[in-house]
Amino acid sequence: MKLKSKSLIFFSTLFGSCVLAMSTPNAIAQHAASSGAHFSGQAAYNLTAQLLQIAPKRFNGSPGHEKAEEFIKQHFTAEAAKGNFETDTFTAKTPAGLQTMHNYIVKYPGKKDGIIVLASHYETNYPLRDIEFYGANDGAATTSLLIEIGNVLRTHPPEGYSVWLVFDDGEEAVKEWTFNNGTDNTYGTRHLAAKWSNDSMLSKIKAFIVVDMVGDKDLNIDHDDNSTPWLLDLLQTAAKNTGHSSQVFKYHEPEEDDHIPFAKRGVPVLDFIDAHYGPSTDATPDGYHHTAQDTLDKVSAKSLAITGHVFLESVKQLQSK
Ligand code: ZN
Repeated sequence: MKLKSKSLIFFSTLFGSCVLAMSTPNAIAQHAASSGAHFSGQAAYNLTAQLLQIAPKRFNGSPGHEKAEEFIKQHFTAEAAKGNFETDTFTAKTPAGLQTMHNYIVKYPGKKDGIIVLASHYETNYPLRDIEFYGANDGAATTSLLIEIGNVLRTHPPEGYSVWLVFDDGEEAVKEWTFNNGTDNTYGTRHLAAKWSNDSMLSKIKAFIVVDMVGDKDLNIDHDDNSTPWLLDLLQTAAKNTGHSSQVFKYHEPEEDDHIPFAKRGVPVLDFIDAHYGPSTDATPDGYHHTAQDTLDKVSAKSLAITGHVFLESVKQLQSK
């Protein structure tokens, strides 16, 4: 995501036309609620540690980037065998030239027509390739969180809408995240939003939910002013239902992240993000964000458990919409 110290834009007008048909709650919600109990923050944390060991630096075009892709793929061989693992390869035109990128889409078919998408970027920041930048929280923890969500969905498939996991590439700027409507950012999700717009998949998406930076030991999920208002309400309800109200909405601010390309195309979006990561100092106004301090010791299994439970409760709430 963009450095919060520079994020000033609002997209509030984009959401005026987002309407989702309401239907009566049903047994689906109950089933999804029980699924939440199976999510393990410790398992997500262990996966984060493994990913960081295998691929500490995952910037575009690096050996670590490829290793991270292998790491993702090897966790979804069961879905691949069923034809529910899609590799979306594309070429991105970046300030550093053409780069080949990959989004990975893992599909858990449901019984209702419609899709809930959960997304995280997996690469690390390209401009930081020459420092020891590992992105423990910025990429590794949320990639691992999605893998663990996949473990839950594999044994507890959705009975309502389908749930798709998206491991997207190229979220970070290659040179510099330019202000509003810049093209040096969110390469993977911009590509995917355009692709799904062309093949009419976009109209099936009930919500596009992004997770970013939510492994932070000192967890507080922001009220992102660029997210769709009814999804922010839903997040608040999900936090309340899981006993985590104190971990949400301490900060209200607009975030530029992987949800924006979908927001711009009228899809309801939600950014699960904790943009307040570590102490803000003169030298590092954004705390540990995009510094060599973004390491595993700043991430906790407890935070990943809270995020995972609130996340799955949000999916449960969505299933009854
Ligand atoms: Zn980042």
